Amino acid sequence: MKQFQFEYTNEDSFSRNLTAFKERCDVEGISVGMFQVFTEVLDWNIIHRVCGIIEETFPEAPYMGCSTSGNIVNCQLSSDITVVCTVFELSSTRVKVFQYDLEKEPVEQITKRIVEETRQNSWVKAIEMFFTIPETSTTRFCDGLRGIKRDIQIFGGVACSDDITSDASCVFSKWEGFSEKSILIVFYGGDEFYVDSINVTGWKPLGRKFRVTKSKGSVLQELDGIPAYEVYRKYLNIKNDENFFYNTLEFPLFYEHNNTTILRTPVASNADGSITMTSDMDIGSVVRISYGDPGTIIESIINDSRKIAAFEPDLLRIFSCAARRTFWNSKEPTYEIYPLKDISPSCGFFSHGEFLRTNGNLNQHNVTLVIAAMREGEKKGNAVWAKTGDMESMSRVPLVSRLATFISVTSLELEDMNQKLALVNEKLRIAAIIDGLTGLYNRKEIQSQIEKALNKVRKEKFSLVMLDIDDFKQVNDTYGHQEGDNVLMVLANLLQNKGSVYMQNVSSGRWGGEEFMMLLKNTDMSSASYIADLIRQCFANISFPSAKSQTLSLGVTQAQENDTLDTLCTRVDMALYKAKKEGKNRVVAI
Ligand code: GH3
Ligand code: MG
Ligand code: MG
Repeated sequence: MKQFQFEYTNEDSFSRNLTAFKERCDVEGISVGMFQVFTEVLDWNIIHRVCGIIEETFPEAPYMGCSTSGNIVNCQLSSDITVVCTVFELSSTRVKVFQYDLEKEPVEQITKRIVEETRQNSWVKAIEMFFTIPETSTTRFCDGLRGIKRDIQIFGGVACSDDITSDASCVFSKWEGFSEKSILIVFYGGDEFYVDSINVTGWKPLGRKFRVTKSKGSVLQELDGIPAYEVYRKYLNIKNDENFFYNTLEFPLFYEHNNTTILRTPVASNADGSITMTSDMDIGSVVRISYGDPGTIIESIINDSRKIAAFEPDLLRIFSCAARRTFWNSKEPTYEIYPLKDISPSCGFFSHGEFLRTNGNLNQHNVTLVIAAMREGEKKGNAVWAKTGDMESMSRVPLVSRLATFISVTSLELEDMNQKLALVNEKLRIAAIIDGLTGLYNRKEIQSQIEKALNKVRKEKFSLVMLDIDDFKQVNDTYGHQEGDNVLMVLANLLQNKGSVYMQNVSSGRWGGEEFMMLLKNTDMSSASYIADLIRQCFANISFPSAKSQTLSLGVTQAQENDTLDTLCTRVDMALYKAKKEGKNRVVAI
């Protein structure tokens, strides 16, 4: 693949340059793949003239284009209107352009058609997309392309204008013309076409995590239960005014979605404290404010440029967020992509959002650099390593970067400590209500549960079963305390048997020594007596290693509306006492 670029300054010179190129193509047998027009000028008349000259000179070649917030050719800012011609050197390489009108067709239908086109054109290996500034979240569009074969790469950008706060944008192509609400799709592929695409942010998470607790589509309503805007006000002192968009550009949200880290900038702050993002923000997901650290950015680009160089691309496509251009305002607008310029020719633009498919999922990013590397034929083994020049010197970390690291580490440590504390608290909470030996509720807890049940006994009846091991002292005396403990634990297991249908509504606690209390919700006295007797029988059938078979006595009573904890427990205790008196190993209900 090769790339030829033309700067449009006026009709005559552009026409002359293109004609000269046409003659050269004829002489050298260059086969033109397509023309791409990147324009900061949104005037349709001018765009029309540019396209007209392309069509007159190369009637067979497809062309397409979009409006931008700055055009990039060979890693440098190019003129306001830049025309790039991509040339294919192998006859197997193919390209096809589609344009879908968002005003004529619902998004679902468009994505269905794109998926279908990829099935019909089985040679496709990469899809390049150009979106006009979307009116709503692009999530439905991205999700709609899930059905595309997993190994097809998808990348692209949102068209925009040189004013990044403006909604004006357009795309256009040879067949469908100019549109302010359309999606342009370019298929690339063929047997000997290779492609790889990556994204680079370099932005660093800053400070604590927030959970999305309320959102509606792309409107982020609450983070950790407070209006999303409040997070920007509290932590960065950014005001909810007309500059909100500009001020937050440098501090996008670091968002985990589809197992990919995505940067999201707010596009607007709303009166109710919510903020509107470019794509949906799922409830439950975790976000962090992030900030652009020049050292980290350059370091990650240097690392990634080595990977790109190893791919030995013929051409690179670069989609960089317009916010990144603003970020490097003290340097050249394309400063950060210099490491790529020695690898291969490149073209692209500063966009309003960047698209990249990662692990089968297409995501819209913000503040991100998406780079696609394309090649015809196998690698030749002569990768040109990116020269990084003086950029490495950026690794001298400035104070602000050190402070950001300090804040990040401190807040992560705090989060870690909070998590450990929450774990300790949970353990303490459990220790306060559970009996150590048996794992059943302790007396205090089961008493409190009985009290709660008493408070609503009018609506929900319940019964108590109190049980006591018969002649337990003898077990201890004859077989030792250890065997005694063993008997207690086995009984506790029986009382916790949630697998049994009879035990579903039962809460059991250790009342003291070898006495236990069962709270049976939604259970009247006769059912409670039935269950009590089942337990008696089960226990009597157990054979302990030394103590062999043992028995239980059980008292049963049903709670009455005028009962207090005291009257109810006294009554069930009396029932148990009666069972003991009547000869043990039995159930008595009163
Ligand atoms: P009864 O049939 O009248 O209930 O006679 P009993 O021997 O079971 O009653 P008593 O109240 O005389 O004895 C209860 C015994 O339970 C005394 C105590 O040593 C024993 N015990 C209490 N808690 C534990 C414990 O945690 N482990 C063991 N192994 N024994 C315990
Ligand atoms: Mg006993
Ligand atoms: Mg006892």
